[in-house]
Amino acid sequence: MSDEYQALAEKSKSYLWNSFTQMQGYHEDQPIIIESGEGVKLRDVTGREFYDGVSSIWLNVHGHNVPELNQAITEQLGKIAHSTILGMANVPAIELAEQIARLTPDGLQKVFYSDSGATSVEIAIKMAFQYWQHRGKPEKQSFVTMNNAYHGDTIGAVSVGAIDLYHKAYSKLLFQSYRVEYPYCYRCPVGQELSSCAFACLQQVEHLLEEKGSEIAGFLIEPIVQGASGIITMPAGFLARLRELCTKHDVLMICDEVATGFGRTGKMFACEYDGVTPDIMCMGKGLTGGYLPVAATVTTDEVYDAFLGTYESKKTFFHGHSFAGNQLGCAVALENLKLFAERDLVNEVARKSAYLAERLQQFQELAHVGDIRQRGFMIGIELVRDKSTKEEYEWQEKIGLIVSRRACELGMIIRPLGNVVVFMPPLSSTEGELDAMIDILYQAVADITERGVQVRSETLPYGL
Ligand SMILES: *Cc1c(COP(=O)(O)O)cnc(C)c1O
Repeated sequence: MSDEYQALAEKSKSYLWNSFTQMQGYHEDQPIIIESGEGVKLRDVTGREFYDGVSSIWLNVHGHNVPELNQAITEQLGKIAHSTILGMANVPAIELAEQIARLTPDGLQKVFYSDSGATSVEIAIKMAFQYWQHRGKPEKQSFVTMNNAYHGDTIGAVSVGAIDLYHKAYSKLLFQSYRVEYPYCYRCPVGQELSSCAFACLQQVEHLLEEKGSEIAGFLIEPIVQGASGIITMPAGFLARLRELCTKHDVLMICDEVATGFGRTGKMFACEYDGVTPDIMCMGKGLTGGYLPVAATVTTDEVYDAFLGTYESKKTFFHGHSFAGNQLGCAVALENLKLFAERDLVNEVARKSAYLAERLQQFQELAHVGDIRQRGFMIGIELVRDKSTKEEYEWQEKIGLIVSRRACELGMIIRPLGNVVVFMPPLSSTEGELDAMIDILYQAVADITERGVQVRSETLPYGL
């Protein structure tokens, strides 16, 4: 490794604490230090190149170093980088809000900006909570979430999170919310088969809302795909049933499209699969093409109007983040959306998803591939010790981690979720690039689960 690399690695060890990373062990090998990127590839300071197989954790849309996006930022920079959105507005923030309202399902009309997926969820929670106070139903205070939900890492978002590994340690810090099952059909929580179940797991939701609906403010849902739990896909029609139940029991439906939004599933928003309009929609990640931290919480006029009143009425939504409506971020988001239209990107993703599905068939032949789940460019491959019994690998075996490490050695960055190998290529990937990435993925899974190939180290680059 070069001197430059060594110097940076030393500094990294001295000063940097990485997200979701066990730092003990992380520095024992040679952590990847990225210097540049081009299209679907990342390049590190030593010149090694890697496919960005998880779109830099589900963000990237048009690839890296996209001339049009770069230019949108530079042009905006020549005018102004940032001014506040408290009590005033700015040009790109207004233009972007219009675009978001236009692209989201009919009825979603008002855009409240923030700077990360987690904050967009915090906002949804506070908005829903206060909405009911303004509507004269202050007893509606609780939230429903789905088992293994992930909505971000701030305290409110963690309170409606339900992944024990990430969330349990903080339980005393959190407000309580109700949990219902997500339709994890490969391991059905109520022991049914999808072909004959008639959504049996929905009965739990029905009962809960019948019994407690009058005290429930909102229901948080990762529509169509539950991401961080392991790319769990919802069967067709399920989300529409949830919409019906929320409406029936006067509960605000909050769809967290932070992961699924902006073409990722082969629709602009995943809600479109079931023709659903939520009361509140959260978005982030792909909104700026993965360039800058802009997020939004989008809602209906009905929710918005409940906050209207005189200054003295104190109905104002007292919430804001310093960088909300940031001009650079909004400018690049606008250009991102322009490229979506020019490149017919959502339809392209849908078309290439069918091709990906064909390529993924090949994985069925592998002895330890239990389930292959896909919606658009969101793919999860669940590895199992025994395919016939669905016996899981032990956590300590770090199977997903080791497969990801192998993929990294073979030239593609991926990051697992437990025993699920996650593949989320940038939406701009060509069929040729998808082929190359799938080949690496296949080899990595086969090498580790069948061929006894050893990785150089299993701690890196993930240090999990
Ligand atoms: C990533 C993600 C979040 C959190 O977004 P951040 O920008 O990381 O705070 C929230 N919800 C879902 C569904 C996500 O995938």
